Amino acid sequence: MRTFHAMSRRRVLGAGLAATVAAPLLGCATGSGGPSIGRVVVIGGGFGGATAARYLRQWGNVDVTLVERNDSFVSCPISNLVLGGHRSIADITVPYSGLTALGVKRIQGEAVAIDAQARQVRLADGRSLPYDRLVLSPGIDFMLEQVGGLTPAAQEKILHSWKAGAQTVALRRQLEAMRDGGVYALTIPKSPYRCPPGPYERAAMVASYLKQHKPRSKVLVLDANPDIQSKKGLFERAYAEHYKGIIEYRANNDLKSVDVATNTAKLEFDDVRADVLNVVPPQRGGDLARATGLLNMNARWAGVNWLTMESTAVPRIHVLGDTVMSAPGMPKSGHMANQHGKVAAAAIIQLLKGEPINATPVMANTCYSYVTATEAMHVTSVHQYDVAEKTLKPVPGGGVSAASSAAEGRFAWSWARNIWADTLAA
Ligand SMILES: Cc1cc2nc3c(=O)[nH]c(=O)nc-3n(C[C@H](O)[C@H](O)[C@H](O)COP(=O)(O)OP(=O)(O)OC[C@H]3O[C@@H](n4cnc5c(N)ncnc54)[C@H](O)[C@@H]3O)c2cc1C
Repeated sequence: MRTFHAMSRRRVLGAGLAATVAAPLLGCATGSGGPSIGRVVVIGGGFGGATAARYLRQWGNVDVTLVERNDSFVSCPISNLVLGGHRSIADITVPYSGLTALGVKRIQGEAVAIDAQARQVRLADGRSLPYDRLVLSPGIDFMLEQVGGLTPAAQEKILHSWKAGAQTVALRRQLEAMRDGGVYALTIPKSPYRCPPGPYERAAMVASYLKQHKPRSKVLVLDANPDIQSKKGLFERAYAEHYKGIIEYRANNDLKSVDVATNTAKLEFDDVRADVLNVVPPQRGGDLARATGLLNMNARWAGVNWLTMESTAVPRIHVLGDTVMSAPGMPKSGHMANQHGKVAAAAIIQLLKGEPINATPVMANTCYSYVTATEAMHVTSVHQYDVAEKTLKPVPGGGVSAASSAAEGRFAWSWARNIWADTLAA
């Protein structure tokens, strides 16, 4: 087993994160010159897809086309700081120009269908893109049928902001417009969902804004789960230390429906009226993965061969990121999606060359959460392929912060800048 360091070791480890995957030694030169070894279409330019596109170009002479509906990458990590007023949307937006410079052909558009037999992707504008291998990293979509009343019109007012971009800005505006003495209520779906600590960080970031600007206001966290899902002791301590009397946490509060006229969350045992109601709905793999028959795990997530990230339902389609059925203990995170992208890129190059897949992946995750404008804390984990069980399993090497600190706040910002640079060749 050999390991790869996607960025220079000093740069990556200096930020306190180990972006290391085990992969066959492919060399470091950018794939240019000579005949292409194959055509790969990548759908989704988020953490998974953009990483795969980058390393397919960098590690092999692959003809890569990236299809992404947005004109630039907007990061969910750090987006809670935008809600708190501590960062701007520009701070979390990264252009795709680094990938273009590596020779990735970028199409801004919507992929509407995949014909796995003909090996073609159809775009909304009618174009068809043929592929030898397809990479699909569409992120999450919402199980809106599980929340009554969340009609398209209601979603204009009751935001999720669980995909960064326009909704992040819109929720920030709602918070700015909220009266002092108002209630911000956040509903959290049952696990698994994208970014286990994300909602608890969001509560802290909104509270940090309200504490300073609207101190009579409240943050109500309505969690469908029986407990805080990540860094529990650290969040509890931070809430008590910084936001006593502002944040109220309620476990086992499963959202059943909303009443948009009164901004009311209708929970299993209770109704909660809020000034700003932020509903994070239950999630599943992306719509295009579902339409292609890839969500073969509980009709919700995509099963993959962890050696190649190839779908267990449809051959030649490699599925990455949040859409994938997580291996035991593996969070749905940008860092994990980035690691999926590297494993897929290395494996696809071998498959295109007709070489055997002889590496066993190791993936690492680091997830920081801010609790004040400057203080953060982390959780890390390492996941290694288990040959007998054909899945990745957590191995020693991970852990959590002893406490939040300003030093970790600086590491968290460095982590974000490093993972954006690594993912987008920025
Ligand atoms: C508030 C919040 C905080 C978070 N904080 C962290 C953190 O600190 N650390 C961390 O590691 N993770 C964090 N995450 C989780 C992280 O954002 C996700 O796990 C990550 O984005 C998953 O990557 P992905 O490639 O699966 O999906 P995404 O990054 O969402 O990318 C999917 C892309 O596919 C595009 N797309 C989808 N369908 C189509 C289509 N049909 N045609 C064209 N384009 C399409 C979308 O526009 C999107 O750009 C956070 C998430 C949230 C919501």
